[in-house]
Amino acid sequence: MSKRIGILGGMSPESTTEYYEYITRTYTERFGDYGYPEIIIYSVSFQPYVDWPEQDRWDLVAQGLSEAAQRLETAGADFIVIATNTMHLVFDQVQASVNVPMLSLLDAVGEAILARGMKTVGLLGTKFTMEKTFYQDALARKGITVLVPDEEGREYVNSVIYDELVAGQIRDESRAGFVAIIEKLAERGAEGVILGCTEIPLLVNEADAGIPLFDTTAIHAEAALNYALA
Ligand code: GLU
Repeated sequence: MSKRIGILGGMSPESTTEYYEYITRTYTERFGDYGYPEIIIYSVSFQPYVDWPEQDRWDLVAQGLSEAAQRLETAGADFIVIATNTMHLVFDQVQASVNVPMLSLLDAVGEAILARGMKTVGLLGTKFTMEKTFYQDALARKGITVLVPDEEGREYVNSVIYDELVAGQIRDESRAGFVAIIEKLAERGAEGVILGCTEIPLLVNEADAGIPLFDTTAIHAEAALNYALA
């Protein structure tokens, strides 16, 4: 029997559905049948999770996500993934609020980078992911150095995420803008770049960028599938 996966999603729906599709489709591609693990998705209302970080009310973020995680546990999830990079800022508080384990996206991404033998990588994500230190700190513990774009680049990446990608808008000019920022990170020494927002893989891929990219949605969903089957 596989473990039942709890997905704490809705941040945004565009990437939550990617987790669901990745887990179910990958299972069937790999094993040839439809015996994928059971999945419970708890989709929060996204607006407060846009507003509270802007107001620096991470206490409310932690409280809201803890209540959501508890509902997943009550519903029967054997373990939980938070399907967004940004909200890993409060991962420890949410984990402390439930009795089931949670699989950290940051751990899975760090392992994927080490498996490729890289020591220095770029990071694209929301301004919170790029400017707060939780991501850099987690990867530094694995010996990985993280480079982020300059202020103008960070502002651009953040605005494309919240104004376009979470609304399902995929624009060629934004893809070109992201590729230019990825090239600058490579010039500064990044051996690869973390797509550290679960919607960015909808916009750019390695063929566009010409440098290894870490698709955090696929990496985290893969970790969830493997853990469920282990
Ligand atoms: N899904 C995004 C991420 O991976 C951003 C949305 C959010 O959670 O604020 O960080």
